[in-house]
Amino acid sequence: MIKRPFHELGLEPDLLRAVEKMGFEEASPIQSLAIPVLLEGHDVVGQSQTGSGKTAAFALPAIQKVDPSLRATQVLILCPTRELAVQVAEEVAKLASFKRGVRELPIYGGQSYDRQFRGLSQGAQIVIGTPGRLMDHLERGTLKLDAIRMIILDEADRMLDMGFIEDIRTILAKSPPTRQTVLFSATLPRAIQELVKSFSRNPQTLKIESEALTIPDIEQVYYEVDRRSKVDVLCRLIDLHDIKFGIIFCATKMMVDELTEHLVARGYGADKMHGDMTQAMRERVIGKFRRRALEFLVATDVAARGLDVDNIEVVFNYDLPNDGEDYVHRIGRTGRAGRSGKAITFVSGREIHKFQFILRSTKSRIKRERIPSAEEVEQKRRNVFFESLRELLEKGDFTRHDDLVDRLLEQGFAPTDISSALIHYIQEGVGSAKPVPEPEPAPRRMERDRPDFRDAPQSRTRAKDRDQATRRGRSSSRQQDRESEPVRAASHEAGKIRLVLNVGRDHQVAPGDVVGVIAGMTKAPKSAIGAIFIKTKRSYVDVAESTARIALKKLNGIDFKGRKLTCHVSTEADAAQDEA
Ligand code: ADP
Ligand code: MG
Repeated sequence: MIKRPFHELGLEPDLLRAVEKMGFEEASPIQSLAIPVLLEGHDVVGQSQTGSGKTAAFALPAIQKVDPSLRATQVLILCPTRELAVQVAEEVAKLASFKRGVRELPIYGGQSYDRQFRGLSQGAQIVIGTPGRLMDHLERGTLKLDAIRMIILDEADRMLDMGFIEDIRTILAKSPPTRQTVLFSATLPRAIQELVKSFSRNPQTLKIESEALTIPDIEQVYYEVDRRSKVDVLCRLIDLHDIKFGIIFCATKMMVDELTEHLVARGYGADKMHGDMTQAMRERVIGKFRRRALEFLVATDVAARGLDVDNIEVVFNYDLPNDGEDYVHRIGRTGRAGRSGKAITFVSGREIHKFQFILRSTKSRIKRERIPSAEEVEQKRRNVFFESLRELLEKGDFTRHDDLVDRLLEQGFAPTDISSALIHYIQEGVGSAKPVPEPEPAPRRMERDRPDFRDAPQSRTRAKDRDQATRRGRSSSRQQDRESEPVRAASHEAGKIRLVLNVGRDHQVAPGDVVGVIAGMTKAPKSAIGAIFIKTKRSYVDVAESTARIALKKLNGIDFKGRKLTCHVSTEADAAQDEA
């Protein structure tokens, strides 16, 4: 692998400054190879792995070749998806930030034409877009190709898979023959080779060999998991390794929906991304994930294509990928730019044959691991709790309650008993309701990050409530599906408030689900959740006041049972409506 310093590649000072500002220390192998060749004006066919820095490899020479005084489209970058177009545009913007007068413009479907017209008429020199929308603008005459100096096809094989071949041909055919043609692709199927033959002149083929393709620094492991235990094993691994930021790949949209629901109900900060969602929805989810307001993104291969988020701790192959290439694409999301990461694959039953095939085709070494037992997870949790307590004591950073402790000591209780009772109290939430922490605006992982007194019991509560949720779901006297009972507007339990959720029997909601989602999202102790009534379209649940406050903030708008959940305090009108 050849890695060269950026300043040896022939780049202008403005660009070197940008690269430095982005924190790139040296050029990646594909950058080291491609940048000088592109600056010399050659056509290029480049092949290298996801995450190897292809964007800067083509964007830096492209920016350098732009004449800022000429207000016309000079570089066209074609991408398979809107997400990718936006990401590439963002990277171009950063790389061009010190070169005056260069404008970039992402163009993709679903975005207002007005903005695109404006950007184009203002003379953005670098236009980045999906082939479909670019064709649209060509036909309308709003995109002109006569000043084009360079056309870049990013992820060309993906674009072909998505049926863009004709659009690509048209765009290439209509652009000036003097232009430079650059194509990047993970694979070079025949259709691409033909495209290259007809549209580029003496292209230089640059390939980072497959040894370099296998992503270094990624620990790859697999578990043989029975299909039905996948969710449990997933949660165990997350808890055991205290994973806070990961992508979970599923085979189908349905699996994505289902798993996301399970995870949310168990109190994990998860959201999903698949092909049935609108662009706006996807962007919201990606935004949340980027900001770390989400712990887990559950996705299909297609939806996650081109997704570029740094510092992902783990990629879970909850369902096996289709082939070695998809496997590498998926796990390439972690361990980016030399950081370490981990890929965890679930293999169930007969899938082992398919998995062996994937192993052979990727030449990967994947270690088999044993599924941790529930006890191991529990032990780990106790250790975390122990550590956070120890740290707190060491720092001495807590409010003192000497008078309370003295009173207990005076009554003859031993210090060890008092401490144990306190720990029990925190973890089990017995007695009067546990003081629920104020709702925090920070994402939940932050709460887990901070080793404070609340921390460990909370993450423990998560698993405990989960168990209780399933147990209660199956058989419970108090929290059962009281469908025949009329619903009152308010709880008759002192200190409790009745909430209404917009999901009911029609949405396959069971009492356990309601407990799960409330306990999960609010971290409430079990004593804070009371009676539950499941009606056809709605559910009612009595919760402690402090829990209600958090629930109203946290439950509204999350995905639950395939719906956007709404949650409000029950009114007379609600009750009247559900009176059978
Ligand atoms: P690819 O298109 O090959 O999948 P990207 O261009 O999306 O890869 O780059 C992957 C990540 O690596 C991005 O976050 C990018 O900012 C970062 N990156 C690119 N080049 C370098 C470099 N030379 N040093 C460090 N990080 C880099
Ligand atoms: Mg890329």
